[in-house]
Amino acid sequence: MDAPRARPLEALPKAHLHLHFTGSMRHATLLELAARDGIRLPDALVHEWPPRLAAADEKGWFRFQRLYDVARSVLRTPDDVRRLVREAAEDDVRDGGRWLEIQVDPSGYGARFGGITAFTDLVLDAVREASESTGLGMALVIAANRTRHPMDARTLARLAGQYAGRGVVGFGLSNDERRGSTPDFGPAFAIARRAGLALVPHGGELLGPESVVTVLEHLGADRLGHGVRSADDPRVLDRVVAAGVALEVCPTSNVSLGVFGDLTSVPLPTLLEAGATVALGADDPLLFGSRLAGQYATMRAAHDLTDADLAELARMSFRASRMPEWRRTECLAEVDAWLAG
Ligand SMILES: [Zn+2]
Repeated sequence: MDAPRARPLEALPKAHLHLHFTGSMRHATLLELAARDGIRLPDALVHEWPPRLAAADEKGWFRFQRLYDVARSVLRTPDDVRRLVREAAEDDVRDGGRWLEIQVDPSGYGARFGGITAFTDLVLDAVREASESTGLGMALVIAANRTRHPMDARTLARLAGQYAGRGVVGFGLSNDERRGSTPDFGPAFAIARRAGLALVPHGGELLGPESVVTVLEHLGADRLGHGVRSADDPRVLDRVVAAGVALEVCPTSNVSLGVFGDLTSVPLPTLLEAGATVALGADDPLLFGSRLAGQYATMRAAHDLTDADLAELARMSFRASRMPEWRRTECLAEVDAWLAG
C-alpha cells in the first residue's frame, strides 16, 4: 500500500456547488455588522460559536432557522450584500475554489431590498464584481423555500428563468425537508426546467431514501442537495447513479445537524463505491464552522482517502457544475497537475 502523500488540499482545484448566501457569511463579519447596528446576537453566535445544533427533531431545526434569521437580519445595505459575496469568493479562492454556485432565496430579503427582482439584480451584480476581483468563476442558484406556499416557488422559478444565461444557472428548494409536500413543487420545477436551469433541490438529508425517490420523481432533480441518505437503500442509490444525479454532500453540516453521529459515519465510501457523482460542499460555514477545503480534509481524515480519491472528488465537482466548458477543461487539467505534482 502506498502511504498517502497528503498534498495540500487548499491547492486542489475544486468547484463549490452547495453554499447558501446567508450561511456563507464570515463569523467576523456577522459580529462587525451586528455591532454597527446595535443588533444583539444570541450567545450561540458569539461566545459559543460555532453553535451546537441538532436538527433531528423539529425543535432543533427551528433553533437552526432562528440563528439563520438573526444572521439574515444583519445584512442591511447593498454594500453589506456586496461584501458578503466578495468574502465568500475570497474564502473559496483561499480553499482552492475555481467555481462557485452560490444559492440564495430572494424572498428572505425582498422586503428590505426593494423586492425580489431588485434584490436578485443586486446579488448578480455583487457576483460579477466578486468574480472579477477574485478570479473565481461564479454563478447563482435561486432557491425556493419549502415551508412557504408552492405559488411562491413558481414565482421564484419564473424569476430564475428570466435570468437564465445571465448569471443564474440553477433552481433549488431548501429548508426543512419534513415540511411541505414535495409533489406540490413540481410545477415550479417544470418552469425552471423549461428555462434550461439545473434542478438542484435539497433531499435525502433529514429524511431517508423515500424522500430521494419523491424528489427524483416529482421534481426531476439534476443534482440533489445532500442526497446522502441514498446510501441507506442500495436500490435507491443505484437509481440515483443510473439517473446520473450528482449528490452535493456536506459532511460538516450533516454532523452538526445530527444527520450522522460523526464524520466517519458520513457514508461517502458507500456513495463512491456505488459509482455516484459527489461534489463536497460546506452548506452554511457560518453555522457549521467549516468551509470548502475543510470538507475535503475531514473526509480525507475520516475515510483515509488517498490523494487520487480526493482528485477524483474534485473532478466530479467540476463535472457536476454548470461552469462553461472551456473553464471545466482548464480546471480538470489543473487537478491532474495537482496529483502529478
Ligand atoms: Zn443546504
